[in-house]
Amino acid sequence: MPRGLVHEVQLLVTFGLPYHYIHHRKDAAASRLPGLRHRRIRHGWYRSYGKLWNLDAPFPDVIRERTSRTAAFKDAVRAEEYMSWVAHDFLDKIWDFDGLTTEQRAYTRKWWEAFHIWLLLRPDVLRDWAGVDVEAGKIQRLIDGSEVWEDEPEVTREYQRLYRRVFFLLRRDRMLRRLVEENGDLRFLRGLSNKALPADVAG
Ligand SMILES: [Zn+2]
Repeated sequence: MPRGLVHEVQLLVTFGLPYHYIHHRKDAAASRLPGLRHRRIRHGWYRSYGKLWNLDAPFPDVIRERTSRTAAFKDAVRAEEYMSWVAHDFLDKIWDFDGLTTEQRAYTRKWWEAFHIWLLLRPDVLRDWAGVDVEAGKIQRLIDGSEVWEDEPEVTREYQRLYRRVFFLLRRDRMLRRLVEENGDLRFLRGLSNKALPADVAG
């Protein structure tokens, strides 16, 4: 399964919040059932691949219907949680990288992990491209047809948590570090040492 981080960065870009508790809940079984087997539990959408959806038609009408129903009868947060739930299974399916050899798959996964980390380390791209201002704590939302930057202090807290997680991973994984550097414009990573890290991360 993809690292929780990849799921979280995707949802940060999509919704402005990473919905980490959704992935946590879905993948909780992974400690008992590692790898593909964890998808026997709480991964109904993944298991319906080939029946209700495929990669050519990844989000059939039923998703839209369930989302609007949830928004109407519960609230917008529950609707986003539902979409996050489905997006998780969608990424799990992509992450299978069917058709690749074991080696190709390992490299491809690592490359995409690095890409998501690179993205996370570029607050300017997150703001200008994804509409998530992780520094000011704002999310760009479409409200009644117009784009509005809404205050969302949780964004900043969640971002800091992800940022610490990324440094933790980069310190331990040389290949990941190299791939992140190759994505460009992260020269500071070359000097990555305990000294360069925020105090609460170093050690
Ligand atoms: Zn999963």
